Parts: sequence; structure tokens; C-alpha cells
Amino acid sequence: MVEDGKEHPDYSVLGEHGRRCKSFVPQLTRVLAMGHRSSPNGRLRGVLRSAVLEVHDLLLAAYGPQNWWPGDTPFEVIVGAVLTQNTAWRNVAQAIGNLKRENLLEPKALLHAEPDRVKALITPAGYYNVKYDRLMNLLRFLDGQGMDLEKLRRLPLDELRAGLLEVKGVGPETADSILLYAFQRPVFVVDAYTRRLFFRLGYEWMERASYDEVQRFFMEALPRDTSLYNESHALIVVHNKDTCKKKPLCEGCCLWSLCPARR
Ligand code: SF4
Repeated sequence: MVEDGKEHPDYSVLGEHGRRCKSFVPQLTRVLAMGHRSSPNGRLRGVLRSAVLEVHDLLLAAYGPQNWWPGDTPFEVIVGAVLTQNTAWRNVAQAIGNLKRENLLEPKALLHAEPDRVKALITPAGYYNVKYDRLMNLLRFLDGQGMDLEKLRRLPLDELRAGLLEVKGVGPETADSILLYAFQRPVFVVDAYTRRLFFRLGYEWMERASYDEVQRFFMEALPRDTSLYNESHALIVVHNKDTCKKKPLCEGCCLWSLCPARR
């Protein structure tokens, strides 16, 4: 965008609220460009919060509450978080249905079940050897805590997250999904959909930023609110699957008015 003979970034990503905050623009430029490296002060955090909440509110109005995560118990959510790696949810649902039918959606029963039996049951989720190993690693971690999920839920967040990340095969996205959806802890889950959507909305640095940098941005921009993080991640996933696909369906998109990448 060219104004006064000088080139300025396009702030349309911030929507009407951002446009009303022109006095913040120079600082905001730095924060949006380097948001993953710097912590915004109170006023800037307010602007960023409005911008990110505006996206959230538009998604919520378009798709409604998602009521995530699909799972009857925290343990089912934990198993689902491992099985969903690199596969569609419908395949995970089939694998979970198989485990449930065999009464194996219980930590001790699953840990001690015959490996080939478990692998056969989780086959619909793909990569069954890898996922079996990851499930067992996680179960051994839980076993080390007495299989007491309630006790785990009460651990300090940093301690619990560090413990999960030490489990072989559990990366930040899986650990944070477990923290948020199984243990109801206020952690923002970042995935490829988050990066793609916000890249298109003008936060281009997210494409190359680390997981922790992107997560820090959202957790500094948004209030620490488990329900908000729960709904926000779910809505981002749904929007990417439904509309902002690899080849986006911009016509009729609920974010069209504030999206610099609209076609
Ligand atoms: S306008 Fe297009 S690119 Fe932008 S968020 Fe919507 S679908 Fe994605």
C-alpha cells in the first residue's frame, strides 16, 4: 500500500478496529512483523487481541461452537491425539471405535494388551507400528504416574508439558492437544492450519517461525482462557478444511473482508 509517497504495510488484516488504531501503526508494524520475537506492551497487546479475536468471532459466527474434542473420556482424547497424527479424523474414529468395542480404551487394559491385537485394531488410523509404539510410550509415562489422570491434571502446567514432551513420539502439537482437550489446561494448539490461515491473513512470519514462537504470539495476544483456546483451534481447523483449503474457496468466506490473500 502506498501513502504519502511511502510504502506502508497493508493493515486491512486488523479489520476496522486496527484501522481505528492508526496511532499504533508504527509500533504495530514491528509487532506484527516480529511478534514471535517480542512481547507486545499493554496497548499493543490490546490491538493484537482485538485483531485475533475478530478472526475468532467471525469464524464462530460462521461455523458455530464446535464442542471439541470428540471423546467420551480424557483417556480417549489422549489416544485420539496420538492416532490423529498424519491422518483424517474419520480414520481415527474408526480405530477408537475398534478399541472401545474390545474394552481397550482404558489405560491398564491397553498397556497390557497383546501388541498384534492392538495394532490390528488401530490399523484404520495408519502407521500402526509407529502409532502403537507412541501409544505404549505414552502409556508407560502415565503408568509412571500411577495411571492417575486426575493427579496429572493437577500438576503445574510447565511440569506436565515437559513430561509429555519427554515421551518419545510426542511433539508439541500432540502434547498441547492433550493438555488442552484432555486436561483442560490453557494452552494454545498450533498446527499447519493455524500457520496457513494466519499467513494468508497477513502474518507472513508464521510460515517460517518455530512452533513455540507462533504459540507465544497467540498466548500473548489472547487471554489465558481454556474455552477460548479450545474453540479457537477447533474453528481454525474447520475453516481450513471447509473453506481456506490448500486451494482456498474465497467466495463467501467469512474472513473475506479482512483477508489480504482473498481472491
Ligand atoms: S478469503 Fe480466501 S484466503 Fe482469505 S481466509 Fe478466506 S478462504 Fe482463506
